[in-house]
Amino acid sequence: MSSAQIIDGKGVASRLREELAQKVAEFQQSNHVQPHLAAVLVGDDPASAVYVRNKQRACEKSGIRSTLHRLSTETSQAELLELVHSLNEQSDVHGILIQLPLPSQIDETTVLDAVAPLKDVDCFHPENVGLMVQGRPRFLPCTPAGCQVLIGESGTPTSGAHAVVVGRSEIVGKPMGMMLVQKGDLANATVTIAHSRTRDLTEMTRQADILIAAIGRPNFITGEMIKPGACVIDVGINRVGDRLVGDVNFDEALPVAGSITPVPGGVGPMTIAMLLQNTLTAAILQTQALSE
Ligand code: NDP
Repeated sequence: MSSAQIIDGKGVASRLREELAQKVAEFQQSNHVQPHLAAVLVGDDPASAVYVRNKQRACEKSGIRSTLHRLSTETSQAELLELVHSLNEQSDVHGILIQLPLPSQIDETTVLDAVAPLKDVDCFHPENVGLMVQGRPRFLPCTPAGCQVLIGESGTPTSGAHAVVVGRSEIVGKPMGMMLVQKGDLANATVTIAHSRTRDLTEMTRQADILIAAIGRPNFITGEMIKPGACVIDVGINRVGDRLVGDVNFDEALPVAGSITPVPGGVGPMTIAMLLQNTLTAAILQTQALSE
C-alpha cells in the first residue's frame, strides 16, 4: 500500500531559522539595531505560557531580543491598552505579540487593533490584513504563511489547484484562503473555504488537491474525506489525554494522501519561524522609516 510523503515541518522550520539568524546578524551589523519582540502574556493559562516560552527561546536562538510582559488574570482592558501604547512608543521594540486568548473582561479586537501596524508581527491589524488581501503584504499571517511554505516543500503545484480550507477563523482559515487565491508563487489556486455551515463537507473535501484543516476537532478529517494523492496540511493542535493530535486522522490519511504534515512537528514549528521572520521585517521597516 502506498504511503504519503510526510512533510517535515520541524526540519523546514529549523532550516529557515538558521537562514534567519544569518539575516538578523547581517541586519544588526549594518544598522547597529537588534530586532526585538515584546511578548505580552495576560493570565496564567499553562498552554499559553508554553507557547510564549517557545517563541521566546526561538527568538534568542536567532539573535532576536525578546522580552516578556506578564500581567495578572485580573488585568483590566485599560491597563493592557496602556502597556500596548507604551510598547508602540518604544523605538527599540519592533514587534508586539499579544498571546491569545485574553481573559474574558478584555475585548481582543480592541487590544489587537491598538498595536501599531508596523509592529503587528502576527498580522492581525486591519491595515495589515487589508494589505495582504490586496496582494501587497507588509507581513504575512504566521500560521497560513507556514502552511504555504510546507505546501511548496511537498512539491504540490498550487497554480490551478483546488485548495479547500476547512475553517474560517481570522487567524488561520480566512487568511489561508486569501493567500492561496492571490496571484503569484505558491498561490494561484482556486479556493473553497468551508466551515460548520457548509453542506456536504465530504463531497467538498474530496475535490481538494490541497486540503487544509483548521477546525480544532481531533481526527475530524477521515480517510474517506481525502482525495487520493492530495496534499494535506493539518493545522489542528488538540490535546487528547497526554497526546497532541491534529484535525486529520493521520493513520487513515496516510495511505490516501500524497503528502501530509504530522502533528506535532508540522505546522506548529513553522508558525514560530514565520513570527521570527516578521519580527526581522518589522525591524527593517522601522529602521527604514526612521532614516527617511
Ligand atoms: P477556531 O475555533 O477559531 O475556528 C475553527 C473553524 O472550524 C471555524 O471556522 C468553524 O466554523 C470550523 N468548524 C468547526 N466545526 C466544524 C465542522 N463540524 N465542520 C466544518 N467546519 C467546522 O479555530 P482556529 O482557526 O483558531 O484554530 C483551528 C485549530 O488550529 C485549533 O486546533 C488550533 O489549536 C490550531 N492552531 C494551530 C496553530 C499552529 O501553529 N499549528 C496556530 C493556530 C491555531 P464556524 O466558523 O462556522 O464556527
